[in-house]
Amino acid sequence: MVTRNPCIARIKAGYLFPEIAKRRREYAAAHPETARPEARIISLGVGNTTEPLLPHINAGLVEGARRLGTAEGYSGYQDEGLPALREKISRVFYRGGFGIDEIFISDGAKCDIGRLQLLFGSGTAAAVQDPSYPVYVDGSVLIGAAGGWEGSGYGGIVYLPCTAENGYFPDLSALPADSLFYFCSPNNPTGAAAGRDQLGALVKAAREKGVLIVYDAAYAEYIRDPALPKSIYEIEGARECAVEVNSFSKPAGFTGVRLGWTVVPRELRYGGGESVNADWARVTGTIFNGASNIAQAGALAALDDEGIKEMRTLCDFYLGNAALIRKALENLGISCVGGDNSPYIWAGFPGRDSWDVFNEILEKCQVITTPGAGFGPAGQSFIRFSAFGRRSDVGEAAGRLSRL
Ligand code: PLP
Repeated sequence: MVTRNPCIARIKAGYLFPEIAKRRREYAAAHPETARPEARIISLGVGNTTEPLLPHINAGLVEGARRLGTAEGYSGYQDEGLPALREKISRVFYRGGFGIDEIFISDGAKCDIGRLQLLFGSGTAAAVQDPSYPVYVDGSVLIGAAGGWEGSGYGGIVYLPCTAENGYFPDLSALPADSLFYFCSPNNPTGAAAGRDQLGALVKAAREKGVLIVYDAAYAEYIRDPALPKSIYEIEGARECAVEVNSFSKPAGFTGVRLGWTVVPRELRYGGGESVNADWARVTGTIFNGASNIAQAGALAALDDEGIKEMRTLCDFYLGNAALIRKALENLGISCVGGDNSPYIWAGFPGRDSWDVFNEILEKCQVITTPGAGFGPAGQSFIRFSAFGRRSDVGEAAGRLSRL
């Protein structure tokens, strides 16, 4: 019989959300009163969007589907994506700074993060912010990357702590040379958004050390502080050291529709001088047949003036939820970061184990959260609160937090 890829057995972080779901089920089974509407369990735990699509964007999707039923409007495979969409992404998000051959349409940022790892192979070391979005670590483990970790769990993946002490921005002197560095801003889970000087230092360090940055900007449209960069390419020199993954999931509510993009600048080279852009075209052409053309019609609508307004309205709605949660926590004297330029709030419970705090919040408030330890060792005494939820649920949950 065929043998299992041994890397699969080494994935650890995949247990986080199933474990949360298990604890929720067990609590509900032991507390039948949670079946009553006023006592129901409310989730502030996941990053899934809840609000319906807004009308202009929705009309774009509907029209995209209608056109497929006509001889003139029908289209099949589209490989790197509709040229009109790639051009519009460049114009709206990058001031027209990229050619369409540098923008690749995807079925989502997570999918591209997984595929990007194929470019670098198992000999490449990986570094992550600690805490971090689990896909960076698990994806690296799956392809056997971060050589040297054999037999030592995740020992070969370098975790760069992001804590209150360093303003949730890592000590770049610890960044290993010739590595891949996954950097997410605004950050999931901490909600911290990196400033211009911080990203300048990051680009400088990456260029000096031969590091390639995978910059995850999935929450960029939540940035409200005009001084904060929304893209790594706002920093000079980033084209030579960074790819950027992005998505319509969180700003347009496309978590289920599925559409994202990745920017791979022509200037970006491997250590041997080969073009990363050419390889990315090759890899995606080989194992990905392009994103849904209906989803791309929706994205084109999202980038119309009306669609941009709708995305802002949607992000503002979730930021409104975030403000309610953050205020409720701060009223209890709990120190928090995030929620202002991001839909996540990272709340500190010094000296506590995050699973214990998770249990306490579930028991006293019937609210589901995410224990920080699931995102890396530096998350041990933190809880992530997600602002994705119906307003009535978030308001109710925020009120219940006073029971803590
Ligand atoms: N990147 C980060 C940091 C995320 O938190 C998420 C989803 O939660 C994604 C990427 C996934 O985005 P997509 O829905 O486009 O795959």
